[in-house]
Amino acid sequence: MQFIETRGNDGVHPSEVTFSHAILSPIASFGGLYVPKGMPRLGIAYLESHLDSPYKMLALDLMRTLRIDIDEVTIEAAVALYDRFDDPAHPVPVVKVGEGLFVSELYHGPTRAFKDMALQPFGHILSHLAQSRGEEYLILAATSGDTGPAALETFKNKPGVRVACLYPNNGTSDVQRLQMVTEEGANLKVIGIDGNFDDAQSALKSLLGSPSFKAKLKEKNILLSAANSVNFGRIIFQIVYHIHSYLELVRQGEIAMGEKIYLNVPSGNFGNALGAYYAMKMGLPVKQIIIASNENDVLTRFISYGSYDLRDRTLIPTTSPAMDILISSNIERVLYDLFGPQRTRELMVQLERERYYSLSAEEHELLQTIFVADFCNGDEGKGYIKRYFERGYLMDPHTATCFKAQESCASEAYKSVIYSTAEWTKFSPTIINAISGAEGSSDLEALEAIASKGNIAIPSMIKALFGKPIKHATVIDKADIESEILSFI
Ligand SMILES: *Cc1c(COP(=O)(O)O)cnc(C)c1O
Repeated sequence: MQFIETRGNDGVHPSEVTFSHAILSPIASFGGLYVPKGMPRLGIAYLESHLDSPYKMLALDLMRTLRIDIDEVTIEAAVALYDRFDDPAHPVPVVKVGEGLFVSELYHGPTRAFKDMALQPFGHILSHLAQSRGEEYLILAATSGDTGPAALETFKNKPGVRVACLYPNNGTSDVQRLQMVTEEGANLKVIGIDGNFDDAQSALKSLLGSPSFKAKLKEKNILLSAANSVNFGRIIFQIVYHIHSYLELVRQGEIAMGEKIYLNVPSGNFGNALGAYYAMKMGLPVKQIIIASNENDVLTRFISYGSYDLRDRTLIPTTSPAMDILISSNIERVLYDLFGPQRTRELMVQLERERYYSLSAEEHELLQTIFVADFCNGDEGKGYIKRYFERGYLMDPHTATCFKAQESCASEAYKSVIYSTAEWTKFSPTIINAISGAEGSSDLEALEAIASKGNIAIPSMIKALFGKPIKHATVIDKADIESEILSFI
């Protein structure tokens, strides 16, 4: 599989690159992104042939089918990292929670959020590439709370890579922050910044595009890459679980092979939803992809009205912080796929200049054949958490946003899979508030209260965080990020 650019080619970047190029140097011409040049149609026969495939085998075979330029042994070792999930034989359980309604749990990995689904195998592949080329990479990651821990966990002590991870100070839960600041590994640097996630992400984008920063790294023989969800090395592993979840419903006897279902995705940077889009494009029988947002409802408005509009918008901190995003980077890949490179570049340039763009009526209509969306506010989300907890199912506030969209967007004629992107343990104060009304609990108090109320165990890796020494205490102004990273190098 070869990769081309969402904003067309500038005559300087290569016009077509391999998978390994796209993941090592993810920024393309005119600040665009790499996208697959073509996707194979898999069809029902492919799905049937994988009806009995365990997750790892499906992942391995999909990578083979997509023909990425990574050798078999490396891919095998990469997908073997799903052995670090709670149940190695079954890393992604799909659970029935209501009539025709299922939750696909993507959070059973080492850092308890769906970022592990992609970053575990991706970390192995990237480190392997760096070593085999005799190169040293600095991976930049900006996080709203889940990417950071997952990136640190996958790259810690791996040869050929160092990680600098930016997180918004006061923008994450205690558990998320502790997962980062207690992480050991001489190749890791964790930096809190005074600002929100968009600040962290734009700082990262400007460093990635800065020739002087690159030159300074080059003096030390270090190349620059990114582990954010714009990296296709993450997207590719996020196609697998959509196919797996579909097959799981067939295996459970809930749908017939070929029957269409809804995929309902709690969305921020749109990496998870993009994986669903590619799965659908490859032939997975999907009725529509439901996009759930929180109060930062830019995506809901875009899909519902056809305008991506950031004028007069500021980021609202919510109880589902991993979805607190205004500029949703992976939308660009959908624009490219539907409308081509010229139009994509036009729209993205307009967004940068005017903080706004509008689709034509025909373009909007096409978008709506694939996506439908709604947003859920914090109180509504807590209502779903409480209601389902009382019925014996515990979910986190990101997952809860999907239940609102499910009611407003889905027709009951189709079964639905909601993606659960984080374990309850990462957002426990919100959950205890939802189920008992308790206010102001610390993460630790809330974890213990929920565990006793629900008669469930706190996973050992979460409990252990509270006794670990802090390794990274740096919190700085955005302006000082570059010099802080350079001094780490
Ligand atoms: C990252 C994340 C999301 C958003 O996923 P995108 O792929 O960025 O849309 C949703 N929920 C949780 C818990 C996350 O960590």
